[in-house]
Amino acid sequence: MLTGIHFLLSYKCDSECDHCFVYSSPRAKGTFTLNQMNKVFKELAKIETIEWIYFEGGEPFLFYPLMHEGIRVAHGMGFRTGIVTNAYWATSEEDAELWLKPLHDLGVSNISVSDDAFHYEDKETSPGKLALNAAKRLGMSCGSICIGKPTVEEGISKEQDKGKPVIGGGAMFRGRAVEKLTEGLPRRPWEEFTECPYEDLRNPKRVHLDAYGNTHLCQGLSMGNMWDAPLSKIVKQYDADSQPICRPLVNGGPARLVKEYDVQHQDEYVDACHMCYLVRRALLDRFPQYLAPRSVYGLQ
Ligand code: SF4
Repeated sequence: MLTGIHFLLSYKCDSECDHCFVYSSPRAKGTFTLNQMNKVFKELAKIETIEWIYFEGGEPFLFYPLMHEGIRVAHGMGFRTGIVTNAYWATSEEDAELWLKPLHDLGVSNISVSDDAFHYEDKETSPGKLALNAAKRLGMSCGSICIGKPTVEEGISKEQDKGKPVIGGGAMFRGRAVEKLTEGLPRRPWEEFTECPYEDLRNPKRVHLDAYGNTHLCQGLSMGNMWDAPLSKIVKQYDADSQPICRPLVNGGPARLVKEYDVQHQDEYVDACHMCYLVRRALLDRFPQYLAPRSVYGLQ
């Protein structure tokens, strides 16, 4: 049952982080218009199970008036709302309050702030810290997102991982992270990646929507295009076993995906996402409706 919708308000961002799994940058394109956002809200009312609407990107504060309007409309429809930001706008606690107060007045339920070494070197005086302090002063519910550079640890998380290297730090090996962060990390044979470890592709709880119409189950893996078919219909008719990419993934992970479509692949990968992302990228031209946009794969 789908309970969360995340607007990727834009792929544009003031930063260009190595771990960004949607390849955001100052040059990135793809931003919702007000008209497009309102079309989505009309569809959300028909889905009936949605509780939460998140605004993220890219960097949603680059499109502050649109984000503000989206939050206003969402609350008018009875949804709870959240924001994910890198807080580039927090030049002091006092100034950060100027940005946050109108959102707090709308009743925004949660704000998540990136506050890590990928974004800011000095955590004590970072914009993330200033924004979090300002949010607390206003009485807003808030939290930080801290992703570290990948580290190699001894496997202890699962019985089957004992003695095998586990990658710490929290970065997901999708998008730009594959290009920038996988070098030198230990790898495992491709046959081991027989399941998707992070997404419930059979019964997704949330999807990310972008201005190109893509409805992301995972970054760059779409249920369908909401500008081609109504979003409510896409959601209600979704069945992982009837989708060309999700079907192999739910029945045997990235390893099944390469077998099903006879994709040329490497012998070893850092983890399942690393493999899944590269195999999906190799299949982009065969399944453009389900693997999009190309920019999330670092392509034009
Ligand atoms: S990249 Fe593939 S394996 Fe990783 S969470 Fe997404 S769908 Fe699952």
